[in-house]
Amino acid sequence: MSDTDKILDIYRGYDRDKLSIATIGSHSALQILNGAKAEGFKSIVLCKPERVETYRRFGVADKIITLNSYDEILEGGRVYEKLIAENAIIVLHGSFISNVGTDKVEKRLTLPILGNRDILRWDSDRTLERDWLLKAGIKMPKETKDPKDIDRLSIVKFPGARGGRGYFLVANYEDFVRKTAYQVDRGRITRGDIRKATIQEYISGVSMYLSYFYSPLKKEVELFGIDQRLESNIDGLTRIPALDQTNSYIEPSYVVVGNVPIVVRESLIPRIFEMGDSIVKVSKKLAPPGMMGPFCLETIVTHDLEFIAFEISARIVAGTNPFIGGSPYSYLTHGRGMSIGRRIARELKLAMEGDKEEVLIT
Ligand code: AMP
Repeated sequence: MSDTDKILDIYRGYDRDKLSIATIGSHSALQILNGAKAEGFKSIVLCKPERVETYRRFGVADKIITLNSYDEILEGGRVYEKLIAENAIIVLHGSFISNVGTDKVEKRLTLPILGNRDILRWDSDRTLERDWLLKAGIKMPKETKDPKDIDRLSIVKFPGARGGRGYFLVANYEDFVRKTAYQVDRGRITRGDIRKATIQEYISGVSMYLSYFYSPLKKEVELFGIDQRLESNIDGLTRIPALDQTNSYIEPSYVVVGNVPIVVRESLIPRIFEMGDSIVKVSKKLAPPGMMGPFCLETIVTHDLEFIAFEISARIVAGTNPFIGGSPYSYLTHGRGMSIGRRIARELKLAMEGDKEEVLIT
């Protein structure tokens, strides 16, 4: 029996009147759990002891299961059978995937997941991600393989530099050598890491994180919200006058600490839909059955009003958290109170009405 058959078999054994939606307590769990309850499902949060109080105090979880290790939810783990007994369907998010690991989610999390688990690889691997976006006709920053060829302001990203920690800008090869040596001296990166660095053209403009939802039932892409990240310390650095910046070198970093909502000029919305549609179309060929549910295109809008994308996330992003009560765009599509977390649960509910849940589960 393939893993897909096995997972569908587990789902077929579930009591459909008692389904629950489960996720790990972090990232966007508050809105996922809140949305599950709003659509009439039981909500379960899986979290480390230090996170319990957050979910208890907001009252979003019908059940809190404490984990000692994230591996406990994998097949054979202490909590695995408990989740099956709870008729649990899993919703993934960014911290879920990074805490458990893409490989383990793909192969050992043999529980029903809402969404396409085969697409995760395409957002965690920079080469696959680039291939996907370019095939979808989306512009990306130029990448330089050999640091000697750096010919413009570029951002240097290292693997494992989670959440933008340790990224820095370089203007040319000498700058690259000086700044990587500085990082090696401080033990932040190894010489081996330098070869694995991604050197990407730095795009100057306004960052916009475009959150979409693709409904496999409606076969349509919805725009759900647009946000900007607040990143430390780069956002603080811009408050320091240039003279003081040059007098005392403060290392930049791009660590996300929060998100703020934005709205885009209306004339850019056609391009936003065009990009979302194209991403979904290409995904069907690359990782069948393709994109399902929430995804986010991380872009910078230039002064030519062009969207340049530097990343895609094939799952809910934390940038939708400002919209727990709904965003201007979800309001237009769904009326008040529709978060993307709730939209995920709504899709399951709609599927149940037509006996089509298996379309959404992998
Ligand atoms: P990432 O880890 O790729 O999501 O990047 C973290 C942060 O670095 C982003 O939120 C942006 O602020 C910044 N960034 C990444 N790539 C670029 C780029 N090519 N041009 C300008 N800023 C970038």
